[in-house]
Amino acid sequence: MQLYCDSLTEYKRLATREVRIGDLLLGNFNAIRVQTMTTTDTMDTIATVEQSIRCIEAGAEMVRITAPSKKEAENLLNIKNELHKRGYNTPLIADIHFTPNAAEIAARIIEKVRVNPGNYVDKKKFEQIDYTDLEYAEEIDRIRDRFTPLVKICKEYGTAMRIGTNHGSLSDRIMSRYGDTPMGMVESAMEFLRIARNESYHNIILSMKSSNPQVMVQAYRLLVNVMMDEFGECYPLHLGVTEAGDGEDGRIKSAIGIGTLLEDGLGDTIRVSLTEDPEFEIPVCRDLVKRYTSRQEAIGNKESGISAIPKIPYSPFEYTRRHTNTVSNIGGKHVPVVVADFMKAATIRHEDLQAIGYTYNTETDKFTIADAAADYLYTGKKVLDFALPGTLKVICDHSTWLKAPDKEKYYPLFQSTEYLKSTDYSGTLNFVAVDVNEPASQELLQEIREDYTVVLCLYSSNPHAMPSVRRYVIDLMNQGITCPVILSVESNETTIDEQLIHFSTDSGALLLDGMGDGIWLMNEPERIRNQKVSGRTYLETKNNPQFINNTSFSILQATRTRISKTEYISCPSCGRTLFDLQETTAKIRSVTHHLKGVKIAIMGCIVNGPGEMADADFGYVGSGVGKITLYKGKEVVKRNVDSAIAVEELINLLKENNAWVEKTA
Ligand code: SF4
Repeated sequence: MQLYCDSLTEYKRLATREVRIGDLLLGNFNAIRVQTMTTTDTMDTIATVEQSIRCIEAGAEMVRITAPSKKEAENLLNIKNELHKRGYNTPLIADIHFTPNAAEIAARIIEKVRVNPGNYVDKKKFEQIDYTDLEYAEEIDRIRDRFTPLVKICKEYGTAMRIGTNHGSLSDRIMSRYGDTPMGMVESAMEFLRIARNESYHNIILSMKSSNPQVMVQAYRLLVNVMMDEFGECYPLHLGVTEAGDGEDGRIKSAIGIGTLLEDGLGDTIRVSLTEDPEFEIPVCRDLVKRYTSRQEAIGNKESGISAIPKIPYSPFEYTRRHTNTVSNIGGKHVPVVVADFMKAATIRHEDLQAIGYTYNTETDKFTIADAAADYLYTGKKVLDFALPGTLKVICDHSTWLKAPDKEKYYPLFQSTEYLKSTDYSGTLNFVAVDVNEPASQELLQEIREDYTVVLCLYSSNPHAMPSVRRYVIDLMNQGITCPVILSVESNETTIDEQLIHFSTDSGALLLDGMGDGIWLMNEPERIRNQKVSGRTYLETKNNPQFINNTSFSILQATRTRISKTEYISCPSCGRTLFDLQETTAKIRSVTHHLKGVKIAIMGCIVNGPGEMADADFGYVGSGVGKITLYKGKEVVKRNVDSAIAVEELINLLKENNAWVEKTA
C-alpha cells in the first residue's frame, strides 16, 4: 500500500479482518464500536459492576477493567457473573500490564484481553542498550516463549486480544533500536502480531496510542501501511488518545487524534480517555462516530465530487509544515494566527475584547494581553470607534475597508469572485474567502500565484469537508503556490461536544499534516447557550467569543503548532489509581494553569504512570496510599511525598527548575 487508506478524497472505511468479542463483531465494516474503562477497584465487585452498568446504559459496547495481578484477574469471574445476573452480557476486557499470569487467567474468563507489548514481557528500566542482531533475535525468542501461552489460551477459549502499544511505554529494546518514534510503536506491535499469526491466531485488534495526537495519527497510518506491505491485510484498529485530560481540552485532543483517522476511514472501535467518570466518555464517542454514519448517509453511493489526487506532495507519516510566504505576521515561520469572528455582534466595545484575550483598564486606558489572545478580529461591516491594542488587527469586508480610516490596522476580506474582479487591494495583506468547491476557486489559483499579499481563508460546503480542503491545499502545493492558508470552519451543531468535535476534526486534521497558517472558527451561539455537558457544566457559553477563542488556541496547542498554555497529561484513572485523580488534576490545574508551555503529567499509579507520561516535563505520580512521587522528565526527584503537601512540593520543584512564574493579576 502506497499510503494508509483507500482514498484521500472519498469517504471509504478501510477493510479489516472481522474479529469476534463475545457476541460482538468488530472490523470488516461492522459499525464503529464504542468502549470505555472502569475506574473502580477491580476487587470491589459491586462498585465495578455498577459502574460498568452505568457505562453500558450510556452506550458502551465493551467495558475494560484493569487486572493488575492474579487476584483481580480471578475476580473478573465474579464481576462477569454479577453482570449476567443483572441481565448484562456486554463483553468485558481485561487490561494487562506487566503480568502475563493475570492475562492467562483473564483470557479464560472474559471476552478479551488487552496487552501492552511495551511491558508484557519486559520491565522498563529506561536503559539504552545496544543490541547486536543476534541479541535482538534472542530477545524476540524470549518474547515468543512468554507470549505464546497466552495466544494459545485465547485461541482455545475464543478470546479476543488487543495488542495495545502506548507511546511512552515502549520497551527499552524497541527504544534502543527505533527510538520513541511512530515506527518504534508500530514495530512493538508487529513483533507480537507476527508471533500470534504464526500460531494462526487472528482474533486481534491493534492500537497505537499517544497523548500527542500528531504521534498517534502518524503511528496508526504507519501501522496500516506496514501491515498491508507485510501481510496484505489489516487487523481492526482501536483508536484513542491517551492521557487526554478532562473538559474541553480532553475532548479536543481526542477528537483531533481519533477524528483525523476516522475522516480517512481508519478505525473500528474508539475510546475517548477523559479524566472524568467513564460513562461521560461514551456520549463523546457516539458524537464522533455519528459524524461518519451521517457522512456515509449524506454521500450515499455518490462520489464526493472531490477530484482524485495525482500526487501527494507531503509525507503523511511525519510532520512537515507546508512552506508558505510570510504575509505580515501570517505564514512563513510565524505560528498559526487566530481570527476572532465578531461579524454577528451588533456593537464592539473595549470590554468585549476580554473574551479574546485583551483586558482593558479604564484608568490607564491600556490593554493587557493574555497568552491566548486572538491576532485578528473580523468585524464584517463594522469599523471600531476606539484604538485597538498593538497586536490586534481588523479584517472587514472589502466595501467597508475602502472607507476604513486606518489602512495599517484594517485589512480587506474578499469573496473569491470579488477578488478576481476588484481593482482596489491592500498593498500588504488581502484575505480571500474561498469555498474550495466553487469553480472560482480554480480560476483563483492563477491569479494568486504571483500575489504575495494574499492569504486564503479556505472553507468547504462539501459534506466531506476536511478532505475537500486538503485536496485544495494539495493543489496549491503541487502547483507551487505558496500563499498562506487560514482554515475556516463553521459549526452549527446543537451541542458543545458536537461543535468541539467538528472544529477539532476539520481544522486539527489539516494542522497535523502541516497545512494551515491560521484558524478561524465560527458558530451559531444560540444553539449551545448555557449547555451542560455530560451531566456537569464544564463550560458556560454565555460568552461565545471566549468559547471560540479557547477552542482555537486549544486546537493549536493539541496539534503542537502554537503553545499558549500549560499542557496537562492526565491519565483517565482506573482500578490502580491511588488518589482522586479528578480532584487532584483540578487542584494542580488551578495553581499551574498560567505556566505557558510547561507539560505536567498527573498519573494515578507508579506502575504505568512514569512510562506513560510521554514527554511531560514534570510528573505527579501516585506511589502508595497517600503518597506521591514527583518526577522531572523520567527522573524521580522526590519520592513518596505526603499527598497533603505534594502540590506545594510540585510548585517547589517547578521553582527549582525555573519553570515557575508568579501569576499576574
Ligand atoms: S497510569 Fe492511570 S490509567 Fe494507567 S494504569 Fe496507572 S492509574 Fe490506571
